[in-house]
Order: sequence, then structure tokens, then C-alpha cells
Amino acid sequence: MAMNALAATNRNFRRAARILGLDSRIEKSLLIPFREIKVECTIPKDDGTLVSYVGFRVQHDNSRGPMKGGIRYHPELVSSPDKRGGLCVRQPDSQHVDPDEVNALAQLMTWKTAVADIPYGGAKGGIGCKPKDLSNSELERLTRVFTQKIHDLIGVNRDVPAPDMGTNAQTMAWILDEYSKFHGHSPAVVTGKPIDLGGSLGREAATGRGVIYATEALLAEYGKSIKDLTFAIQGFGNVGSWAARLIHERGGKVIAVSDITGAVKNPNGIDIPILLNHKEATGSLKNFDGGDAMHPNELLLHKCDVLIPCALGGVINRENADNVRAKFIVEAANHPTDPEADEILSKKGVIILPDIYANSGGVTVSYFEWVQNIQGFMWDEEKVNKELHRYMTKAFGNIKSMCQTHNCNLRMGAFTLGVNRVARATVLRGWEA
Ligand code: NAD
Repeated sequence: MAMNALAATNRNFRRAARILGLDSRIEKSLLIPFREIKVECTIPKDDGTLVSYVGFRVQHDNSRGPMKGGIRYHPELVSSPDKRGGLCVRQPDSQHVDPDEVNALAQLMTWKTAVADIPYGGAKGGIGCKPKDLSNSELERLTRVFTQKIHDLIGVNRDVPAPDMGTNAQTMAWILDEYSKFHGHSPAVVTGKPIDLGGSLGREAATGRGVIYATEALLAEYGKSIKDLTFAIQGFGNVGSWAARLIHERGGKVIAVSDITGAVKNPNGIDIPILLNHKEATGSLKNFDGGDAMHPNELLLHKCDVLIPCALGGVINRENADNVRAKFIVEAANHPTDPEADEILSKKGVIILPDIYANSGGVTVSYFEWVQNIQGFMWDEEKVNKELHRYMTKAFGNIKSMCQTHNCNLRMGAFTLGVNRVARATVLRGWEA
């Protein structure tokens, strides 16, 4: 997580606490994580040498339910070097986790699950490693050792991990299998599983679909609908491509799309299914004959009604915020708008739908997956989508009420909603040890 994202989380929490007039004891207690776990994961590599990686999990808050959050395999989650000798070699990219950073990510999950009103707290974790440098069998061994070390601290009613950067449905399948050796068959211990092992229908599209339900709720406030508007989308991966497909299905015009390979524009609207086929066939957005090529940096500044960043954090910042020409920004990525850009855009009257709500469709369908596993009953996709629509629409209404009560923007409406729910649960549970 970029430093500005960490600063933004703290700033937004403190502002929300001030708006709510939170008691300073509650404010303090909400910031202290429930538990931080750090474990050494030592595995034999395929060539027989032993290597050790640091695995970690920050469990932030469980006052509203089991903690929930991703497990990422990524070298950037580690900081200062730790010199250790001994039997095995500590991988140079696996050192100390920066606890502030992971705490902020775990904390953000606490507010996000509360905004979505799903009965969870927040957590985050992972292993400091470069997954691309590991073979499939090394990744499986590493995941199993990590699970052995934390199995008694996660669980269906304690902490339910999910995929994140560098991990996927296969990683969750290995965790499920290893965890079940200790606790019996427990599909609800992780979400984002393969469908064959209890994954939910509709999970793959869920974040992008949630982004569209959120956009519809926002636009309805202004008497507008997707079919009458133009959209620019940064990122054409899981979230961006699903958002684009659903806008196209609703008759909206996606007039610009970019990804790491390039960008394309067409003022009459890009034919998204054809662009998806082109991307599938060539692996790139380049040489698409259904539009004109443009520089990817131009996408954020492209004139459109709704800009949807679906790629990286911090892309809208003080350098470019003044040149953004969209009327609405829907934050599908995490932290696409940094705090300085936030100020500039709000002065310009740009309406921003914040990430903490806009991209919560993924964790909401993860909750449905957990519910289905506990029920031992699989929902059809129609039911998943219908419930997702209900949750996203209800959350938007709740955010709007907070905006009205506290006379604040949508970001603060969402933060005050989430923080207030967690604070209420904390107080109701009582203070005495
Ligand atoms: P992904 O890896 O599938 O796609 C990322 C896309 O961003 C790719 O198309 C990539 O080419 C593009 N990209 C990367 N660098 C770029 C650049 N410099 N300019 C333009 N495009 C660039 O990832 P995803 O799952 O779609 O996630 C996208 C964002 O949404 C991330 O910020 C992620 O944290 C957030 N998010 C995802 C989910 C989820 O369920 N997938 C849930 C919540 C939040």
C-alpha cells in the first residue's frame, strides 16, 4: 500500500471520529489491532535447499463478527532487513512486515465490512515473497506451512481469509485442505474458492457488478441512468472488464479504456464484447480497430460523464486532479484518489463515490459464499446477484443518510457509517475484562 493510502486511512478515520464525536477511549480502542501474528514459514525448494519466508496476519477488529480480509503474496509488504543465520536461508525479499501498513489495510477491512453491513470485522495478511519466482509445488508447500502455523488463529467463526494480490482460488483450496486436516471439512474457513470446493457462483464478477450497482444508485440521486452517459475506464482486468461489460449491456457508452498494454477511445462507444475478444486473442488493447489508440496517461483526463479507475492506487493526484474532466468518479480500485486530489476535485464539484463502498461487492459476495458453506446449500447466480444488488443499494441509502445527518461528502458519509457501526458494537459488548 502506498504511503499516501496509509495516511489517507488514518486521516479518514480521525475525521469520521471527530464528526461522530466519538469518546476518545473508543477512538483509541478502535485503532488498536486485536492481534498481530508473525510466523516463519520454512520450506524445501524444488532443488532441496531450505528457505524461510515471513508469514503474517493482522486481525484488526472482531466486534461485529469474524474477521475478514485478503492474504497476499507480495515482496512489497516487507521493509527493514533482518539478519539471521542458521540452517536455512532467509529469502532476501522476505524480511520484516511493516506493521503500520498491514494494520491500515486490516483496519480498512473493518470499516468496509461495516459499511456493507455484513457481519464481519477486518483482517489482512500474507507472505513476503515473489510468487512468480516460486514453482507451483513450492507455492503449495509454502501455503500449507503458513496454514499449519496459523490454523488455530483463523477459522469459520474467527477469521476468514480470501485471495488478494499474488494469491487466487487455488491458494484458497490449499488453505482449505490443510485447515481441514486439523478441524474436519471446513469450506467456510476461506472464501474465493474454486466452485468445485464450495466457491460461490457470481464471485468472479462480483466486484465489477457491485461497482455498477453502486454507480446506478449514485446516478439515480441525480436523475441519471447509465444508458444516457459516457464512461472512461482505467484497467481492463477482473474489475474493469466486468464493469465495462455491464455498462455496455445497459446501453451506456464506454468511450475510453486503458490497461498496462495501451488505451483505446471511440466517442460513439467501444463495442466491449469485441474488445474483450481482441484482448483475449492478442493479450493487448493495442491494434484494436474498433477505436483509436490513445496514450494511457490521457485516460484519466478524458472528457466523460463517469470516470472509473480500476487499476492502481494514487493515480489521481495533485499533478493531474485539476485536469480531470469527469463529473463523477467511481473508485473501483483501492485508493485511486489521493487526499490532495480529493480536495482539488471536491472544490471543482466532482462527485466521488469512495472505494470503501464502491468496490465492496467482492467482499459482500464472499460473505454470501461463507453463508452458503455454513448452510450447506448452494445459491444460483440469480440469487447471488439479486442479494448483491440489495446490499449495495441499501448501503448507498445508509451512506446518504449519514451525509445528510453530518453534512458531509460521500467519503465521510461512508467512513462515519462504518466507524459508527463498529463503535456501537464495541460499546454494546462492554468494557470490563
Ligand atoms: P487485475 O490485476 O485483474 O487488473 C488490473 C488492471 O489494471 C489490468 O488490466 C492492468 O493491465 C491494469 N493496469 C495496471 N497498471 C496500469 C496502468 N499504469 N495504467 C492503466 N492500467 C493499468 O486486478 P483487479 O482484480 O481488476 O483489481 C483492480 C483494482 O481493484 C485494484 O486496485 C484492486 O485492489 C481493486 N479491488 C479488486 C477487487 C477484486 O475482487 N478483484 C476487490 C476490491 C478492490
